Amino acid sequence: MTSELQIPKQMRALRVLKAPSKYYSLETLPVPRAEGTQVLLKIGAAGLCHTDLMVLEGSFGENLPLVGSHEPSGTVVQLGEEAGKIGGLKIGDRVAALLPKDVCGKCSDCRFGDWKYCANSKYSGITTDGYFSEYALVEAKHCVVLPDSMNFEQAAPLTCAGVTIYTAIKKANLKPGEIIAISGLGALGSLGVQMAKAMGLKVVAIDARPEPLDLVRSFDIAPDLVIDGRKTSSEDAMKEIIKLRPDGYEGWDGADATILTADPTSSHTFALSLTRRHGHVILVAQPPELNFNFKNFIFQDLTLSGSLHGNEVDLKETIELCAKYGIESHVSRFGVDEHEKMIDACEAEGRKGKIVLSFE
Ligand SMILES: [Zn+2]
Ligand SMILES: [Zn+2]
Repeated sequence: MTSELQIPKQMRALRVLKAPSKYYSLETLPVPRAEGTQVLLKIGAAGLCHTDLMVLEGSFGENLPLVGSHEPSGTVVQLGEEAGKIGGLKIGDRVAALLPKDVCGKCSDCRFGDWKYCANSKYSGITTDGYFSEYALVEAKHCVVLPDSMNFEQAAPLTCAGVTIYTAIKKANLKPGEIIAISGLGALGSLGVQMAKAMGLKVVAIDARPEPLDLVRSFDIAPDLVIDGRKTSSEDAMKEIIKLRPDGYEGWDGADATILTADPTSSHTFALSLTRRHGHVILVAQPPELNFNFKNFIFQDLTLSGSLHGNEVDLKETIELCAKYGIESHVSRFGVDEHEKMIDACEAEGRKGKIVLSFE
């Protein structure tokens, strides 16, 4: 142990006791102690993600009880014996951290792939304790130090929603000026349209709900084209996309790549019809089943890839990009005593942006 700040023995935490549950249980738990390569964070803010609601519903059943949330940001207050040697972290650093825990270091991906695919890791807030607590452990190597300009409430959503959509945009592998369509403008999509613009792409933003559509129209870094899937036929939407090409463009009609962030099949069908022949479709939504027409893949020659969150390099790039271009989430903030209100807000009609629990 190097040095540490004053740390209480107990903390408040939101736990899922059993599933299905509508709400978390607010409990008092012992503050854990950082060992080895771990870091203890005093949590500043932790995000609520769609996956957290799936944990409450019981989609990841056997691991309960556990503390919710996999999107942490906070201040380093204690370093395990080995943790200070990793990335030069020190007490008092403001950081954001990734969700995996107990990455094995031995499986094929840990050895010669990407550890984010580790076959044996646990997931904070999903299969082991997460970050809806005043203090929480993270791995030193999963931490990224925050720029002074970024507060905890903006940093927390970048650790899952932000890094996931950033990694998906990178996976599209487009050149500046090429067209990316982002279908679904929730927490991921609304960050994604800003990031993709900042990366020099032409951006088509698609949703069928008025509030998210109005939100992306209001951004300083606004998309080139906003399509309301309820009101626009795919033929009319395609005509608008064609207008985004420079004069003299020779190639196929439609978006060069499309990212699917929403679950409904109708949103996928619409988005695929706007993707150009031989284009790339990237899935980050998690519907229980996918239902595509074979024609999209045989005659339209689309390539479909899945994309999983990101590693510490992706998170660092995400944070730097957002800080540089002032890319922000639309955040609704709740205190720990308002946790039931926070869950109710998820289900509220007209919701937009990101819900964050603040401990400050
Ligand atoms: Zn998430
Ligand atoms: Zn592994």
